[in-house]
Amino acid sequence: MSAECKKDYQAPDDLLKDRIVMVTGAGDGIGRAAAKTFAAHGATVILLGRTVNKLESVYDEIESAGHPQPAIVPLNLEGATSHDYEEVATRIDEAFGHIDGLLHNASILGLRTPVELYDPDTWTKVMQVNLHAPFLLSQAMIPLLRKSDDASVVFTSSSVGRKARAYWGAYAISKFGNEGLTQLLADELDDERSNIRVNSINPGATRTQMRALAYPAENPNHNPRPEDIMPTYLYLMGPDSQGVTGQQFDAQQK
Ligand code: NDP
Repeated sequence: MSAECKKDYQAPDDLLKDRIVMVTGAGDGIGRAAAKTFAAHGATVILLGRTVNKLESVYDEIESAGHPQPAIVPLNLEGATSHDYEEVATRIDEAFGHIDGLLHNASILGLRTPVELYDPDTWTKVMQVNLHAPFLLSQAMIPLLRKSDDASVVFTSSSVGRKARAYWGAYAISKFGNEGLTQLLADELDDERSNIRVNSINPGATRTQMRALAYPAENPNHNPRPEDIMPTYLYLMGPDSQGVTGQQFDAQQK
């Protein structure tokens, strides 16, 4: 499967008007930029993450820009149980009644080391945050997504989630899992009962803390900022991607 790219997509200002969109890892990096971008295009954004002061600063920026008032859901994906996800779903159901978009963005890098030497506890932690959490959150949110007329779920992949490379360990395997979950859910939800599309996005090299951790010797200014890669995110979250499901996207041209 070759990935599509919508980096030149031009979103109208009101693309996401009246939509409720959840973003995980909304406090920093690409998630922060996605939350602000979605809000700037009219969405009410549900900011999910583990560091409340970061979520609050995104909240404040969105509010002071005059965009729809967001909501904050503090959740550490590392320790969260299915009960925690059910509680999140209940709270969102009470507040909004449905959601129209879900961006699975939060991830951790784990170790860059050979499988032979990979610490098993770190492997488990990476799989918990990067793969089990998107599974559990998707499971909890599907009933709320089903109540939308036009819902979009986006899983975040990586180039090493499509072709593994040495030393990327659990991170790479978790991203293969996200690609698998994308295909599985896209197929399961492709019925007349739902209007839920499911796709994956590979952001490509982007100037964030995770990238700096993975490539400490690289000049960060050579990579685009999270704000620069938003067209594909907007395309997938908005109505122009209706009918597109089970596909891989690249946010940057290779
Ligand atoms: P960052 O490390 O900058 O941000 C990751 C976000 O995930 C942060 O908001 C972080 O919260 C949150 N997060 C991490 N662990 C948890 C947890 N246990 N519970 C809740 N939230 C958590 O990463 P990027 O913005 O670079 O990456 C975003 C996505 O894009 C990831 O899925 C990554 O794999 C993917 N990606 C990134 C690339 C890049 O070059 N940047 C390339 C390819 C893929 P906190 O700030 O509180 O720690």
